[in-house]
Amino acid sequence: MNNSLIRASVNAAPGYVPGEQPRDAGVIKLNTNENPYPPSPAVREALAGLSASSLRLYPDPMCKALREAIARLHGCAPANVICGNGSDDLLTLCISAFVENDGAVGFLDPSYSLYPVMARLRGLRTVSVELGARFESRLPPEGVPCPLFFLTNPNAPTGYLCPKDEVRAFCRRQRGVVVIDEAYVDFASGDCMELALGLDNAICLRTLSKSHSLAGLRLGYAVGPEPLVNALFKVKESYNVDRITQALALAAISDPASMRAGVEKVKATRARFSRILSDMGFDVYPSESNFIWARPGARPAGEVYRELARRRIYVRHFEGPRTGDCIRITIGADGDMDALAAALRDMRA
Ligand code: PMP
Repeated sequence: MNNSLIRASVNAAPGYVPGEQPRDAGVIKLNTNENPYPPSPAVREALAGLSASSLRLYPDPMCKALREAIARLHGCAPANVICGNGSDDLLTLCISAFVENDGAVGFLDPSYSLYPVMARLRGLRTVSVELGARFESRLPPEGVPCPLFFLTNPNAPTGYLCPKDEVRAFCRRQRGVVVIDEAYVDFASGDCMELALGLDNAICLRTLSKSHSLAGLRLGYAVGPEPLVNALFKVKESYNVDRITQALALAAISDPASMRAGVEKVKATRARFSRILSDMGFDVYPSESNFIWARPGARPAGEVYRELARRRIYVRHFEGPRTGDCIRITIGADGDMDALAAALRDMRA
């Protein structure tokens, strides 16, 4: 219902619908791309070392120590790095910094469903680039007319990785900023960080939510050319990353071996479960992420999703012409995936 006290674009926007977060024990949760393995032991140690009394003080508004560690990781300067309250925070900052009120935000379709919601809340236009028949990213040779394009790579919810050379050519054609959202890149066979450090209009966005098993912590970061990063600093909240997050994220970043070990386990399960689904008659799209995008062979996807939820197994189903006949399954621990396979067999999905 319209309320005249509220801005027209906010009245009109649908609002983002996150995946369910059931709190009850015994649920198998494969719906929001969380990592089934615990974060680095270094995170546990850093947490134990935190003092409650230090919370009297504001956090470092510039996240200096954390940005230095991230810069070392990617071989760039701290001035190329900005941290955010999850990468969602950085997406909002990009819209604030790069898009005028009459501007447009571009993205792939289907892709991360938050982008159009954010654009509409600001009353901005949206321009979408349709994926190919097998959900491959087809970046138009003529470019996309928008000051900001979110290129999710690997894409979500489909798992497709667009090759770096195609992304580079696309960035070169774009007159606006291209934000390469690499939320899932640690599960992929390549990344585009080099572009964010070599082109003047590309930014790479990363998060500790997936590969580092820290979705509950809320830490994302952007790497890119200094003028763009400076603009993001101008529009951010002063203290957008709290003290606890800065300390624990630093511990996580400093232990890449532990992250890689978890990622390798997820990738092994992804390969095994993709074969199981194919053998059951699902159409499985190749995934470079920590989830699988697949079309059930025998029953409609919406029905499979609902029946699984009834059995307390949560996967994700997105209504819509391109997405409605598929489900997205987060890769969980092997036992959970086996339980899912048994349920799907039992349901004759
Ligand atoms: N980008 C993509 C493509 C995502 O799927 C997500 C997670 N839903 C995010 C960004 C946001 O991640 P976070 O805010 O947890 O860092």
